[in-house]
Amino acid sequence: MKASEVLDNLKRRFPNEPEYHQAVSEVLGTIEEVYNEHPEFEKSNLIERLCIPDRIFSFRVTWMDDKGQIQTNMGYRIQHNNAIGPYKGGIRFHASVNQSILKFLAFEQTFKNSLTTLPMGGGKGGSDFSPRGKSNAEIMRFCQAFVLELWRHIGPDTDVPAGDIGVGGREVAYMYGMYKKLARENTGTFTGKGIEFGGSLIRPEATGYGNVYFLLQMLKTRGIDIKGKVVTVSGSGNVAQYTVEKLIALGAKVVTMSDSDGYIYDPDGIDRTKLDYIMELKNLYRGRIREYAEQYGVKYVPGARPWGEKCDIAMPSATQNELDGDDARTLLANGCIAVSEGANMPSTPEAIEEFLKARILYAPGKAANAGGVSVSGLEMTQNAQKLSWSAEEVDQKLQSIMENIHEQCVKYGQQADGYVNYVKGANVAGFMKVAKAMMAQGIL
Ligand code: GLU
Repeated sequence: MKASEVLDNLKRRFPNEPEYHQAVSEVLGTIEEVYNEHPEFEKSNLIERLCIPDRIFSFRVTWMDDKGQIQTNMGYRIQHNNAIGPYKGGIRFHASVNQSILKFLAFEQTFKNSLTTLPMGGGKGGSDFSPRGKSNAEIMRFCQAFVLELWRHIGPDTDVPAGDIGVGGREVAYMYGMYKKLARENTGTFTGKGIEFGGSLIRPEATGYGNVYFLLQMLKTRGIDIKGKVVTVSGSGNVAQYTVEKLIALGAKVVTMSDSDGYIYDPDGIDRTKLDYIMELKNLYRGRIREYAEQYGVKYVPGARPWGEKCDIAMPSATQNELDGDDARTLLANGCIAVSEGANMPSTPEAIEEFLKARILYAPGKAANAGGVSVSGLEMTQNAQKLSWSAEEVDQKLQSIMENIHEQCVKYGQQADGYVNYVKGANVAGFMKVAKAMMAQGIL
């Protein structure tokens, strides 16, 4: 089957899964050339085998809320591909979670993990449970109930979950605690754990720092200095917070952050003190970004995303499809020179097309946000060795992994005229490694 036929076939067999189709379409649209160079891929129906997850677990999660009422949610774990290592990928708790979203994330994760240079396959899990407004006790009971089903499908050498939207250190700790009770082993089946019980230094920072390290590599190809550059960041969770932290440290000026209710615009830039306020607001009090605007007397725009604000660099770090074609055109008209994605698939296909057409520096999430799962991989190594490394050592390794990913993108994505298509580069590099591993291991 031709690569293009595979997509039509998948759409027919798995209808009503638009995010999954979108992610598959983006990859298939860029690997055609290498695919055609390897007739053995077509002969073994490799693309179809690579696009359809190895297996999907879905289960009911039953838990009791603070009023004593019994609630149900759906729980899932998608084990997408383990050709190069154990299934690895986060867990997302958000009202929007469904099979299509998790299938797109598990698919993306497979290529992202392949790019990290570490031996990790791809997976993703989650629930349509919404953490919004829930008490700490409710969060704990939900995490425990979720793991009561999940635990039998995961393990240190089979499938290693971590955090994603709605799942941070608190949730991973609750899930890991319950997992240990059931599995009776202590080898670190989750990553993103607390530092006292097997977690890695720099894991909380890794996705945001990694994205900035990737951006620096891209800017270097054009001799551009980050200092003084105006940056719009979306989101205010883990990824956005540490993206902003690193940008401030490097002398860039971050003017926006957001949450699902709206965004704030601070023309003076978010400084260290203001970022500390956001971290406390979001991580401790679980408040809304609107409160920043009240605290510092700046503009708050409800129900909107920050892409209309003038910037040199945009770093979408909230969620999928948060930046569409119109947003992309506005950014470009305002002089934006680089977009580096902290979230997974934040730009729509139309937006990506605009960026590539304008030949700006554009890094897709699967390359730019791979720092998080990379340090998860390093956490697995430390757990296996029963050791913990210093922050400097982990940060150093993170930097060299991001440099390596950038090199792979250039190798496979540089066009004859010199322009680097990072979408193509990341997809081809990620694909080739998984494809070769699958071919070597036979028809499975
Ligand atoms: N959820 C993160 C991602 O999208 C991290 C996954 C992990 O650390 O396993 O890559």
